[in-house]
Amino acid sequence: MNRETTPGARARKAGARVRSRVLAAALLLTALAAGCGKAGTPPPKGPQPSALPSYQVQDASAITGSSTLDAARGRGHLVVGAKEDQPYLGQKNPATGVYAGFDIEIAKMLGASLGFPPDKIQFKTIASANRETALQNGQVDYYVGTYTINDNRKKLVGFAGPYFVAGQSLLVQKNNTSIHGPDDLKGKKVCSAAGSTPYQRIKSQYPQAKLIGYDTYSACVDNLITGQVDAVTTDNAILLGYAAKVPDELKVVGPLFSTEPYGIGVPKNDTVLRSALNDALEQHEQNGDWKKAFEATLGLSGEAAPTPPQINRY
Ligand code: GLU
Repeated sequence: MNRETTPGARARKAGARVRSRVLAAALLLTALAAGCGKAGTPPPKGPQPSALPSYQVQDASAITGSSTLDAARGRGHLVVGAKEDQPYLGQKNPATGVYAGFDIEIAKMLGASLGFPPDKIQFKTIASANRETALQNGQVDYYVGTYTINDNRKKLVGFAGPYFVAGQSLLVQKNNTSIHGPDDLKGKKVCSAAGSTPYQRIKSQYPQAKLIGYDTYSACVDNLITGQVDAVTTDNAILLGYAAKVPDELKVVGPLFSTEPYGIGVPKNDTVLRSALNDALEQHEQNGDWKKAFEATLGLSGEAAPTPPQINRY
């Protein structure tokens, strides 16, 4: 009898196939985290430092009465909360520790208006579920990381902006033919980040989906590539970034099924900071910085620069 066909050998071969697939996926994700392409392919386009705008640092001494800003002035730098695993939005280079993406550019242009050049901004990764606590505890001065403005969150934190509007969508394996929108999620394993609005929406409006929550979307994408989940759901802007990094493996499908206006999170009672950030955002939208920043970052995942949304001063 051919040894290759014994049940034991078949099981070992199947095991080896699974292991090599998992290893390939792990390598792919390591490359993703590093902002590189699949092994053997050139790295896909990412934010190029040379293409990024620089922002005029303002004398902000006239902005008084913000306890957050006073504390930042005292320590000599801003601490800004962000994401580190969202391509084109907020991504940390693991080798250099440098953060890049549209959210990071928004943080930098606003920092410049508050009197802080980019080398006086320290970014700190905060997961979706921990943003309100981080702002309440003073761990960060403000937060820029695909953070949807909504009334529930406004009970806990303040929001400047919005500076962009996204919508909930779905990411699936490239060869998937059964999922075209949220109504196809019945009985399917769907992954999202705990504490996010997309997670909450699946839980309340699509209860027949098997919802799985991780701290980060990159953990969800990891599980999608290895086939442990059927779909990842969050804002299209985030999903387009993952798909653009590995277009042979993943695709974004279906209509947008929510509206997610992105705001800059601030400590709830610091209305001086909120208003200063709104003024600064307005100026950077008018002087072209916003558009340049978009084109050098999120625009690389295939979206044309939209008109920035109306700022909501409340
Ligand atoms: N914009 C959504 C939210 O704020 C999803 C993205 C995220 O988790 O950062 O919950």
